[in-house]
Amino acid sequence: MTNTGELLLEVQGLQKSFGERLVLNGIDLQVVKGEVTVILGPSGCGKSTLLRCLNGLEPVQGGRISYSGQDLAGPQVNWREVRQRIGMVFQNYELFPHMTVLDNILLGPLKVQKREPKEARQQAEQLLDRVGLLDRKDAYPRQLSGGQKQRIAIVRALCMNPEIMLFDEVTASLDPEMVREVLDVILGLAEQGMTMIIVTHEMGFAKSVGDRIVFMDQGSICEIAEPQQFFTQPATERAQHFLDIFQ
Ligand code: ADP
Ligand code: MG
Repeated sequence: MTNTGELLLEVQGLQKSFGERLVLNGIDLQVVKGEVTVILGPSGCGKSTLLRCLNGLEPVQGGRISYSGQDLAGPQVNWREVRQRIGMVFQNYELFPHMTVLDNILLGPLKVQKREPKEARQQAEQLLDRVGLLDRKDAYPRQLSGGQKQRIAIVRALCMNPEIMLFDEVTASLDPEMVREVLDVILGLAEQGMTMIIVTHEMGFAKSVGDRIVFMDQGSICEIAEPQQFFTQPATERAQHFLDIFQ
């Protein structure tokens, strides 16, 4: 853990509704630079919606999201700029099918960030090497396994040099034998001190990667604890019930 104590993200009283339905009911959360926050909670409790709000994919109805001092819940946010600093990887790898692995990865760095092609390509190849997929750089997504596609999706996000990475159940649609290779990439990022918010249902992984566990239920945060504490002695009955089902 390279915890410098610097607050990167602060969410206060965040409210989000779909129509009449309040799905985030006053979320308070702080993320310190270098820290890995794992969000757990039953299906439908609002985990994905929370991550999507942090990345501007959902407008919010109340509260504040302060990111490096900028209010992301307010008007006039330059999301194009902010999203370069907040990387996100979803459950379903959204690689462009008609582009090679390398072209998928370079799209953002070249078109959005207007980086120098040679330098961006070098970084892309370094990252591919790190996840063990340099030899697949000219392949098309259809030629890759689910686990490989998901590792490419992570590289694509990393190649924008984000300050924080959001992961939303990135192994949920993978065959069991491919889950490990993707989780190992994320564990490697944690070791390097990447700030991350991770939504997962992999309890062993949550325990080993998380600096903190945030347990959500029905649109609220019920409990924030260190993994050791959370998994052995959760403070709330709802968390205990959740653990009884998932462990
Ligand atoms: P989780 O990721 O924890 O499973 P979600 O954030 O996906 O939960 O969903 C939280 C709640 O919001 C659920 O009840 C879900 O049905 C609802 N919801 C999510 N997205 C939408 C949407 N685009 N329109 C309406 N309701 C939605
Ligand atoms: Mg979800």
